[in-house]
Amino acid sequence: MGDNDAIILGAGAAGLVCAQAAASRGRRVLVLDHGKVAGRKVRLSGGGRCNAANRLATEADYVCGTPHFVRSALARFGPADVEALFAAGGLTLHEEEGGKLFCDQGAAEAARWLERAAREAGAQLVLGCRIRGMERDGGGFTVFTDAGMFSAPRLVLALGGRSWASAGATSLGYELARSQGLGVTSLAPGLVPLVMGRGWEWAGLSGVSCRARLACAGGSAFGDLLVTHAGLSGPAALDISLFWDKGQALALDLLPGTDLDGLLRSELGKSKVRNLLAKALPERLAAAACGDLGELRVGDLSKERRAELRRRITARELHPRGTAGWTAAEVTRGGVDCAGISSKTMEARAVPGLHVVGELLDVTGRLGGFNLLWAFASGRAAGEVI
Ligand SMILES: Cc1cc2nc3c(=O)[nH]c(=O)nc-3n(C[C@H](O)[C@H](O)[C@H](O)COP(=O)(O)OP(=O)(O)OC[C@H]3O[C@@H](n4cnc5c(N)ncnc54)[C@H](O)[C@@H]3O)c2cc1C
Repeated sequence: MGDNDAIILGAGAAGLVCAQAAASRGRRVLVLDHGKVAGRKVRLSGGGRCNAANRLATEADYVCGTPHFVRSALARFGPADVEALFAAGGLTLHEEEGGKLFCDQGAAEAARWLERAAREAGAQLVLGCRIRGMERDGGGFTVFTDAGMFSAPRLVLALGGRSWASAGATSLGYELARSQGLGVTSLAPGLVPLVMGRGWEWAGLSGVSCRARLACAGGSAFGDLLVTHAGLSGPAALDISLFWDKGQALALDLLPGTDLDGLLRSELGKSKVRNLLAKALPERLAAAACGDLGELRVGDLSKERRAELRRRITARELHPRGTAGWTAAEVTRGGVDCAGISSKTMEARAVPGLHVVGELLDVTGRLGGFNLLWAFASGRAAGEVI
C-alpha cells in the first residue's frame, strides 16, 4: 500500500465519491475508515430510503459562514450528476415533494454501490482501521493507524460531522484540521428535534402533527410539524434547528398561508372558535392553541380578543430550552471554516495538498437531500484534482 497519490480519511458519502473520481483518473488512492462497513450514514439516510439529492437545490438551501462557497461545486456536480452516478450502478432515483430524490433500491444498496464504485475504479479501502494521528512534512502527509503508517503527497479529510456517534461519527476530523492550523467554527447539533423543557404545555398532544411555519431571527422553515412529549419534531422543527440558537424565541404559525381573519369572517358567528379552527387544524391542537378563547363563539370575539387569537395561532412565541443533542442530530452545524478552503478544489489555502470535503466543512444543508448532495459534490470536486 505504498506509493499512494492520495489518502482519504473517511469512507462515507464524500470520501467514497472522492475516491471513485480520483481513482478513475488513474490516481492511486487509499481510503481509511474505522468502520467495519463503508458509508454507514448513507445506510441510515432517509429512514432507509436514501434521500440522495434534491432536484431544486440552490446555494440558498445551505447554511455556511462563507457566502457563495457551495456554488462552484454544486454547479459542477448537481442532482442530475447524482442520478447518473447512481444509474452507473443500476440504481434509480424518483422525485418526491419539494424536489427530494430518493433511491428506489434503498439506502443499503446505495451505500453498497458507492463503495463498489470506488473499489471498481481502483481505490483501495482499509476498513476497521483506527487512525492515531497524522504528520505533515515537505513531501506530504503521513497517517499513523493500527494497520500501519501510510504516506502520500495529498490528504483528504472526509471524516464527517460529530453527530450520530452510533454510525461512527467522531470529532477526529475537526482535531486533525485544527492540528494543521485550519479554523473550525463553533459546532452545534443540526437537523435535530427541539426540547421545550419542563412544563411543556403541549406534552399531552404528543403525536399530533400539522403543516406549520417556524421562524427565528436567523431564518424560517415550513413543513410538517410533530408535537412530541418533549417538544417539537418533524421536518419543520428539524429545519429551523439550523437557524435557532439557545436563548432565542421561535415564532410558530399554525396556519401558514391561511387568512385567519377571513376564516373567522366566513363564519356566521355561532360556532365556537375552537370548532372553527378544527376545520384547519387537528382538533386537540386547535383547542390547545386557542386556550380559553376557544370556548367563545366567533361572533363574541372582541377586536382585542381577535388580535390575541391571531397571536396564539399565527405568531405564537415559543422558548425551546435546547435540542435533543448530538445523538439525535442528523448533521453538525458549523465545521472547518470555508474561508480557508478553495471552493473549486476543497484544498486548504494555507496547507497545499490538504483537502477537506463533506459535512466536516462549515456547510449544512436543509432537510431534503441537500447534505448528501453536498457530500457528493464536494467529494467530487476534490477527487478531480488530487
Ligand atoms: C440518521 C441520518 C439520516 C440522514 N438522512 C439523510 C438523507 O436522507 N439525505 C441527506 O442528504 N442527508 C442525510 N443525512 C446526512 C448525511 O448522511 C451526511 O451529511 C453525509 O453522510 C455526510 O457525508 P460525509 O462523507 O461528509 O460524512 P460521513 O458520511 O459521516 O462519513 C464520515 C466517515 O468517516 C469515518 N470516521 C469518522 N471518525 C473516524 C475516525 N476517528 N477514524 C476513522 N474513521 C472515522 C466514519 O466512519 C464515516 O465512514 C442523514 C444523517 C443521519 C445521521
